[in-house]
Amino acid sequence: MTHIITRACCNDAACVPVCPVNCIHPTPDEPDYGTAEMLYIDPDGCVDCGACVDVCPVGAIVADYDLTDDFARYEEINARYFSDPAHAEYDAEPQTPPRRVWDLPSAEPLKVAVVGSGPAACYAAEELMSQRGLAVQVDIFERLPTPGGLVRFGVAPDHQDTKAAGSAFARTLRRRGVRLFLNAEVGRDVSFEALRSRYHAVVVAVGAMDDRPLGIAGEGLPGSHSATEFVAWYNGHPDYADRTFDLGHERAVVIGNGNVALDVARILVSDPEALARTDIADHALEQLRKSTVKEVVVVGRRGPLEAAFTTKELLGLAETPAADLVVRPEELRLSEDQIAAAGERSVALYKVELMAELGTRTPSHERRITLRFLASPDEIRGDGWVESVRLTRNELVADQGRTVARPTGDVEELACGLVFRSVGYRGRGIAGLPFDEARGIIPNEAGRILDPESGAVLAGLYVAGWIKRGPSGVIGTNKRCARETVTQLLADLEAGRLPALTDDRDVAESVPGHLDLEGWKAIDDYERSEGKAQRRPRVKLTDVAHMLEVARG
Ligand code: NAP
Repeated sequence: MTHIITRACCNDAACVPVCPVNCIHPTPDEPDYGTAEMLYIDPDGCVDCGACVDVCPVGAIVADYDLTDDFARYEEINARYFSDPAHAEYDAEPQTPPRRVWDLPSAEPLKVAVVGSGPAACYAAEELMSQRGLAVQVDIFERLPTPGGLVRFGVAPDHQDTKAAGSAFARTLRRRGVRLFLNAEVGRDVSFEALRSRYHAVVVAVGAMDDRPLGIAGEGLPGSHSATEFVAWYNGHPDYADRTFDLGHERAVVIGNGNVALDVARILVSDPEALARTDIADHALEQLRKSTVKEVVVVGRRGPLEAAFTTKELLGLAETPAADLVVRPEELRLSEDQIAAAGERSVALYKVELMAELGTRTPSHERRITLRFLASPDEIRGDGWVESVRLTRNELVADQGRTVARPTGDVEELACGLVFRSVGYRGRGIAGLPFDEARGIIPNEAGRILDPESGAVLAGLYVAGWIKRGPSGVIGTNKRCARETVTQLLADLEAGRLPALTDDRDVAESVPGHLDLEGWKAIDDYERSEGKAQRRPRVKLTDVAHMLEVARG
């Protein structure tokens, strides 16, 4: 008997230290952790103790005897990881890191301002608050009246199990020593200088909400949208609530094949009545009910082995009850060299096998998602509205150890009425802090913010999450990232490198319009009770003024 990790895995690795035989991999210290689609349990190592089940924040771990049909494939997926010779051998000792007890001479509590309230911000706050023997005060500043960042505005509404990670963050926000400043934008309601003078350290964890442009002609045509905008809209982000998406077209094309592309495709073809049981924004539900989209074509520039979407999201797509999955067998064909390089029993190859298998199912729905590979858009065409995308066929070539797409010169015109550009998120610069325009991140070394001119560390300034490393990984990947940042911060504290406070006034006096935890609780209760009446997890408020009204009773 063994335990098995399933779809909702958030990679936060809370399960790793509690495993008495260290059979859950990759661990955060292993090289492939940063790129791992999920964590896996070795069926030959598992002693079936169930300790991991108790600590998993998203309920993703089940015993094999409890595995339901929808998750049956995860048995093979978990086992596959360990059939790769690179993963087969590991030390079966538990990985419980020693816990330090601080004993510093200063009686003054360490005061840290965290900017942002998404996963990286909450993991950073939790890491700070869980130091033993160290008095810490963490103030979290969030420009919106609701905390959560991508948990609220990024995770798809039909992935409520993934959103369960938010309950661990809610516990952090309730901790004594943590204060929440919502509706408090740094730069608007409180200056960055005020934070620097009143806190020993500032951790910037504002994520990456902008989209990466494609840089091709026609990108700005009406009907061509960024996926980031669409995702924020259907998730009820107040900044995007007034956008309109005319879904009265038969075919939509999604450019890029990461998990966001699959989220967009799945939402577009899902049965609106199934979505009506989620916390999708009401305005999006209304538009989706009127949608005439019949086909969503997801276009990847490289091959199926290089697809950025994960096996579990592919499986989720295949299980979308309202649509068929279509592939072109010739685009899935792999050479023997490709198979050997991927590893015959690798998880990457499993994903391609799965696409091939799913593609042979007899079509039975009115709607479909077509996965296309080896094609790059070079122009979006239309006269006042999107009418087609011109695609150039690619071939794969090796380039400095990477597999890259090279245009063959063959072109194809794909007629469509909608385009969603889903080629990654991008961070936005913050006034008063350096910004690396090329990478869309704040320049840093393991979380310490650097002056780009001199390369010197800017004392007391730190960064965590997507604005630190770029938009990669899943929710739990931010835990290791935030821990790395907090480790640097604490090393600086110990070495006396943190700047002294120059202003001892409480920042709460300078941010009069902010909401605190009670305010958020009022909004949360209101949304949940509205949801209960409609048998939904919550009905999201999308208007800031309305949120403030509810919060203030
Ligand atoms: P992503 O995973 O980085 O995927 C971006 C995609 O865009 C890749 O397929 C990339 O192809 C393609 N691309 C980039 N530039 C392109 C160009 N000029 N032309 C055509 N294609 C181009 O980004 P994402 O989908 O936005 O996701 C961001 C992060 O959030 C990821 O870590 C993702 O796993 C995570 N996420 C997770 C979930 C989940 O777990 N359910 C859901 C949503 C998002 P190449 O590979 O060839 O560069």
